[in-house]
Amino acid sequence: MAEPPRFRQQPKGFATKALHTGQEPEQWKSHCVVGPITTTTTFQQPLPNELGEFIYGRYGNPTRNVLEKCLAHLDNGEHCVTFASGTGAVMAVATMLNTNDHLICSSDLYGGTTYLLRKHCDQYEIGLDTVDPTDLDQLQKAIKKNTKMVFIETPTNPLIKVMDIAAISKILKTFDSQNIIFVVDNTLLTPYFQRPLELGVDIVLYSLTKYMNGHTDVTMGATITNCPKLAEKLKFAQVFSGIVPSPYDCYQVNRGIKTLALRMEAHGKNSLMVARFLESHPLVERVLHPGLPSHPQHELALRQSYGHSGIMSFYLKGNKDNMAKFMKSLKYFLFASSFGGPESLISTPATLSHAFLSAEEREKLGITDNLIRLSIGLEDADSLIDDLDQALKSSQQ
Ligand SMILES: *Cc1c(COP(=O)(O)O)cnc(C)c1O
Repeated sequence: MAEPPRFRQQPKGFATKALHTGQEPEQWKSHCVVGPITTTTTFQQPLPNELGEFIYGRYGNPTRNVLEKCLAHLDNGEHCVTFASGTGAVMAVATMLNTNDHLICSSDLYGGTTYLLRKHCDQYEIGLDTVDPTDLDQLQKAIKKNTKMVFIETPTNPLIKVMDIAAISKILKTFDSQNIIFVVDNTLLTPYFQRPLELGVDIVLYSLTKYMNGHTDVTMGATITNCPKLAEKLKFAQVFSGIVPSPYDCYQVNRGIKTLALRMEAHGKNSLMVARFLESHPLVERVLHPGLPSHPQHELALRQSYGHSGIMSFYLKGNKDNMAKFMKSLKYFLFASSFGGPESLISTPATLSHAFLSAEEREKLGITDNLIRLSIGLEDADSLIDDLDQALKSSQQ
């Protein structure tokens, strides 16, 4: 058995934080161990000039507060604001851009984010440049006097490119007076495997829909920051765009993160086993997984993150016909978009998440018709490997 890759060593205490921060039973009259789902939309106030902690559900809700406190601590951040979806969180961040500002984003963002940012920039006449930030030179050259924000995702999905967060932050800090807001979408790794605020990022963003909730049954998002001014703007976007999550969804995500450390360990172990299997398979052209020494940013990934999740991709040898046979033969991998749940999923980015790009744009990025994205779940790794093995054989028949 090959040695596991040596990612950054996880400091002690993550799982403990996930179970205890914000969850103190003393905050509830009954001292309940699991906080209540507070469905009320309004709260009785003591006196006209003496208001309580909670006033109205959209402004603040006890179940939501528990989750926000916990999420902030997991990223070693101060302020967390949750939204009704990850896209809501992206929209909240986008509202910080004004006409004549300039935005730089990475070329391989979540499809919906690319679409939203393009439309938003178009509508409000905000300059938009897309760069490949694995090339730091390209990024530095793209910075203009009116650059207000840099928005990246690392690792990317589906191409699993890894960007040097600390190096990008260092470049942005040299444009001191401009206060460029550095945003990292950390959905793919979660705070368990990567904590961007520690690397100089201003806002870390999540689709909680994925690993954080982890059970394929909640749509939610969050932003975390240490900057009070940014936190205030994000809070404003939450409350006054009205994209607030429901107390029930907050409860579900809060329950999900109690097992985040355990789940991420298992996703990581499984995906590495699958990646090693696929890399040794003659019907596979190339495997993209940062834990493999063949990955172009393997060393950077080891230095920057505490491990890797269940997201990986590979290129199948063959044509559309082989692809169809392969996909049809799978037993456990469900053909569906999204990721981060306990069940393994498979998707074809060219026809699903990135279908809105032109064929040339996809080709340029490397999102070819034989690219397959896997979300490795929590099944036994052997079952997944056997399933892929038999489907690969069937792809040639
Ligand atoms: C899913 C996803 C989003 C969008 O989140 P929703 O909860 O679906 O709105 C944003 N970024 C990344 C990286 C995602 O995977």
